[in-house]
Amino acid sequence: MPERTPMIAGNWKMNLGLKESRDLVKSIAEGIKAMGDVDVLVAPPFINIPAVKSAIGKSNILLAAQNMYHEKSGAYTGEVAPQMLLENGCTHVILGHSERRSIFSETSEMVNKRVEAAIKAGLIPIVCIGETIKEREAGKTFDILGAQLEGSLAYFIAKESISLSAIIAYEPVWAIGTGLTATPEQAQEVHKFIRAWLKDRFGGESSGTIRILYGGSVKPENAPDLMSMPDIDGALVGGASLTAASFLGIINYK
Ligand code: PEP
Repeated sequence: MPERTPMIAGNWKMNLGLKESRDLVKSIAEGIKAMGDVDVLVAPPFINIPAVKSAIGKSNILLAAQNMYHEKSGAYTGEVAPQMLLENGCTHVILGHSERRSIFSETSEMVNKRVEAAIKAGLIPIVCIGETIKEREAGKTFDILGAQLEGSLAYFIAKESISLSAIIAYEPVWAIGTGLTATPEQAQEVHKFIRAWLKDRFGGESSGTIRILYGGSVKPENAPDLMSMPDIDGALVGGASLTAASFLGIINYK
């Protein structure tokens, strides 16, 4: 079984001004110096990416965007292209976050185009999937997640291979920003399903290598139990990534 380095990723959403962003990233960099083998990533709003990149300095903090468009350039007012993210220091891009899907009507088909563009540009996609409470209560969790995986990863399915650096984030919509967390067992059940789905589509090497993050009200208090599950390889953190104390508390979950 290949080793999967845990990743703790902070999605800042539409939060933090310029000074707060710089201060936060410097405090995180200070705090992780002594910590072990965890990949740490932050995803600021587009406009603050250059400032955060310079505050990251020589630390190993990774930088992601929260979204992007799939075209290389052109008349797409308000959009940002993959190459622009690369030029500004991003290595990763979050795609298909539930807020993008529900508030901005992004579909798995759109996510798939962005996944393809990200891979072709050399960015690592963090592809988010998750079910609503209504879907869970109707017993449709696995059908919904299966359909989101099929749609969002169609580019890889067509090639019959997936980039081993791609990352999947399971974020139950009912647990995002609500204070409700999936129990470690509920999350593990879904992560196991995703890994089996990956194995079925792309084989054992891929399913054993690809990291699957959990997201939904992760905090320092619940991180150790979630991270102890065999198929949970990290966390995508919203609210608790906005202060150094709580984000470092999660990074330092061991
Ligand atoms: C998120 O938005 O990705 C998220 C998981 O948010 P929170 O941690 O606040 O639930």
